[in-house]
Amino acid sequence: MSDTKSKFRPESLMMSYGYKPELSQGAIKCPIFQTSTFVFENAEAGKSFFELAYGLREKDADEEMGLIYSRLNNPDLEILENRLCLWDEAEACAVFESGMSAISTVMMEFLNPGDYILYSNPLYGGTYHFVKNVLSRFGIHALAFHAHEPEDKIAEIIEEHGIGDKLKMIYIETPANPTNQLVDIRACRSVADKYATDDKPVYLTVDNTYMGPLWQHPLQHGADIIVYSATKYIGGHSDVIAGAVLGNAEVITRVKTLRTFLGNMAGPWTGWLLMRSLETLKVRMTQQAENAAEVAKFLRDHPKVQTVHYLGFLNEKDSPDNYRIFKRQLSSAGAMISFDIKGGEKESFRFLNGLKLIKLAVSLGSTESLAEHPSSMTHSDVTPDDKALYGISDSLVRISIGVEHSDDLISDCSQALDLV
Ligand SMILES: *Cc1c(COP(=O)(O)O)cnc(C)c1O
Repeated sequence: MSDTKSKFRPESLMMSYGYKPELSQGAIKCPIFQTSTFVFENAEAGKSFFELAYGLREKDADEEMGLIYSRLNNPDLEILENRLCLWDEAEACAVFESGMSAISTVMMEFLNPGDYILYSNPLYGGTYHFVKNVLSRFGIHALAFHAHEPEDKIAEIIEEHGIGDKLKMIYIETPANPTNQLVDIRACRSVADKYATDDKPVYLTVDNTYMGPLWQHPLQHGADIIVYSATKYIGGHSDVIAGAVLGNAEVITRVKTLRTFLGNMAGPWTGWLLMRSLETLKVRMTQQAENAAEVAKFLRDHPKVQTVHYLGFLNEKDSPDNYRIFKRQLSSAGAMISFDIKGGEKESFRFLNGLKLIKLAVSLGSTESLAEHPSSMTHSDVTPDDKALYGISDSLVRISIGVEHSDDLISDCSQALDLV
């Protein structure tokens, strides 16, 4: 397997990797293993599978984990997990029935009462709610830094609050939603290292939903854990909710063990849908990024548009820090654009209501383009002060660019701007 891994690129392996047709009547595609349990060949096999599943003995060099029960493992999930590992060059992966279950399981596994989590703001709304309202009930404390703050400022926050010995996880989202502010993964690694001790690791977790798994590979910049909402680019068709966690074997074994007991693994049907999606991941994302570049240029030149937040417009002169992170950390400007229309909520609503091809919906990363109004929709929970700080104004519109023809996307934006 490791030979195959090094020889072919991920996009070449998405159709076949990890699947053995001879085990499924020669079917070229992995069937949906819609089954709750698996028949053991004999009692000895059952015993041996359980020994592995419960960690009672080490796995032999070429031994595969036996199939037991679909809450523990299922071929659709295992093959999907193996394929997801290829993109991020991760040792192991665990898939979930939603991005939120992936995120919450990671936090529950690695944080204990009394621990601190330091996160970048703004955070995905669901994650923010979980940290503030759920973790807090278990005595887990949270502190935030602003996505645009430099490394020394992050360490300063830790010092100021005197929580260095209680810091257990740094959790970041980069680019930040919706304004594409970048967080330096390597800088966060060095802060995490500063407060880690032999018996208290500080895990660096990156929500890579916005850029992954094609354009940003956090493990290569020092992250320990990647979390995904696979609902977005990985699923890519706005028809499935799912999540994934990637990291080294030790981390993922812990995540999978908690997953077994929370029972929030993805089902076989979800696994199958995501495998189907992964076959086109690269062509979809590549086209989306190309389209986004065209649409961003059109918006920048439009007289009714004030500012466009698009990573492709970063430059050394105006934003040297962001530009430096972009060059090192990302291989594409992505397909998320936000922009301020001249005016306020009234003007942005006119634009959103006037769109014909682009759909008015939250979510992102899908084949169809989606537009929304962060201030009153995805970020309506954010306090007015924080909104001002992050540039989430009433005139801000966010668009996730899909695979339509870029000229059609531009003409749709153009006619909707005419109505403003
Ligand atoms: C959508 C999203 C999530 C939550 O994922 P679900 O699949 O909806 O549970 C988490 N983080 C980011 C950045 C997202 O966009």
